[in-house]
Amino acid sequence: MDNLRNVVIIGSGCAGHTAALYTARANLKPLVLEGHEPGGQLSLTTLVENFPGFPNGIQGPELIENMRMQAGRFGAQYQLGHVSAADLSKRPLTIQVGKDTIYTRTLIIASGASARWLGLPGEQALIGHGVSSCATCDGFFFSGKEIVVVGGGDSAMEEATFLTRFATKVTVIHRRDQFRASKIMLDRAKHNEKVHFLLNTVVEDVLDPAKQEVTALKLRDVNTGKAWDFPTSAMFLGIGHIPNARMFEGQLDMDCDGYLVAKDYVHTRVPGVYACGDVQDRRYRQAITASGTGCMAALEAERFLEAEAD
Ligand code: NAP
Repeated sequence: MDNLRNVVIIGSGCAGHTAALYTARANLKPLVLEGHEPGGQLSLTTLVENFPGFPNGIQGPELIENMRMQAGRFGAQYQLGHVSAADLSKRPLTIQVGKDTIYTRTLIIASGASARWLGLPGEQALIGHGVSSCATCDGFFFSGKEIVVVGGGDSAMEEATFLTRFATKVTVIHRRDQFRASKIMLDRAKHNEKVHFLLNTVVEDVLDPAKQEVTALKLRDVNTGKAWDFPTSAMFLGIGHIPNARMFEGQLDMDCDGYLVAKDYVHTRVPGVYACGDVQDRRYRQAITASGTGCMAALEAERFLEAEAD
């Protein structure tokens, strides 16, 4: 078979680039399928201050571009495209990208997780115009304004606290009166005088797509049924992420939220198929942990190929 690859990596965030770097340096000529959000979540952030090695921090897009260049220098190849299907039931493994069928001996799944949206009628049209899933990317644009954060987990608390750097007032809107957030993150938000809470409240729509900006949210109290318009300049979502693993449904083990279940660090139930980064990590979700598991997956793929050659 002419077009049989040693290693195909799905995803080009920290996990994917690190797996590419290691497998490229092992002379395996990996092919990285970049996916629909090339660069992953780091490409959507600004200053990254917790990736070791950068005493003054580094911009997320620059960090991810550096990783890409570093892997490329050792022979990693990159292809744009979204994986629509995969067949892991026989060898070689088969990946479908648009009209291309790619065959590979090993597969590293580093497809990450995408921000969850509320699915409101006006929401998609206002993304980038006041609706955002990334406080670090877009918070600055709402300096001196009043804004909303939706959610009751650590992400929402972290975003709310962070956004008080810019906003005059941040209202956290949560659908229950119990929080998933850890005590420390919740307390930090609660003790911040700029953060206010609207509990047992759901967002039913976001206005005003016709004006191309967020002017208000349509809210409803879930206990009383009372509905009202709540003026605001922005709605930041902190309601979790959806792992990009749907194409493996029925072929790989997943948890109740669709995260791939990795055993013994990065192994899936199919030999030669590894999962790393946020697609299998609902707990840490850090750039450095994604890179760490990307490295592990690469080393496992290398070992698998060595054993297969024996
Ligand atoms: P999460 O813990 O799953 O919380 C998601 C929140 O959004 C929940 O409060 C949930 O409400 C709400 N939500 C979900 N779908 C909704 C919808 N359609 N409408 C309204 N509300 C909705 O997600 P997360 O906060 O992103 O955290 C994920 C993981 O990352 C956690 O393990 C967290 O500890 C970790 N994390 C850690 C840090 C940190 O330590 N610095 C920062 C961020 C995240 P319900 O509670 O009613 O379900």
